[in-house]
Amino acid sequence: MTLLTVRDLAAFYGASQALFSVSFDIAEGEVLALMGRNGMGKTTTIRSLCRLLPASGTLRFADRDLSRLKPHQAARLGIGLVPEGRRCFADLTVTENLTAAARPGPWDRAAVTALFPRLAERSGQVARSLSGGEQQMLAIGRALMTNPRLLVLDEATEGLAPMIRQEIWTALSRLKRETGMAILIVDKSLKELAQVADRAVILSRGRSEWTGPLDRLTPEETTRYLGV
Ligand code: ATP
Repeated sequence: MTLLTVRDLAAFYGASQALFSVSFDIAEGEVLALMGRNGMGKTTTIRSLCRLLPASGTLRFADRDLSRLKPHQAARLGIGLVPEGRRCFADLTVTENLTAAARPGPWDRAAVTALFPRLAERSGQVARSLSGGEQQMLAIGRALMTNPRLLVLDEATEGLAPMIRQEIWTALSRLKRETGMAILIVDKSLKELAQVADRAVILSRGRSEWTGPLDRLTPEETTRYLGV
């Protein structure tokens, strides 16, 4: 069943148009990679669908029209965002950060700390004293505490040490395998994405230009769309 429908999404920053026509679907339980070179519109697409930025076009989530909702209403419908730059409450402890986000459902503090045992070890520490990787785990944990139907990750492994990145990819694979949670991922690690994502949508200059399983992406398309 389709969980999210995005059709002909267009968005502006003032007079400058960032998205022209972005279209894709996410099915229940599907892991979708949103890809494209720098500045092609990935973050803008995510901000639009979380209602942090006005956009025109069709946005439907779980059979509801998202387009008129406020960010907190989109969150309540079940979109859990892990924003770029892992914004946690710096002066709250790990436990307080998690508890502040909590909504009823299977994802509680015990479930989150089972997924990220480091968060249990750091439970009494304030977020600002955590390493970058631990803050990223906390940001993912906070989104899970809202018990989302769709988890949205914007550059969750950016700038992290290889070992921490691996821990995050392992956690995402477990989420997919064990919970069947739908996940939308923006990330630059093509190899890891290819392992976890069922399909990819590639943006070029504010348009969705390519859709399919990543193993169908030819070397020529990889160079053209991703510049690698
Ligand atoms: P990156 O991988 O660099 O994060 P991206 O694919 O996420 O790139 P966006 O951040 O969505 O790209 O940017 C899309 C376009 O919108 C770019 O041309 C960018 O310069 C522009 N843009 C993004 N944020 C703003 C803003 N706050 N004000 C004006 N223009 C913006």
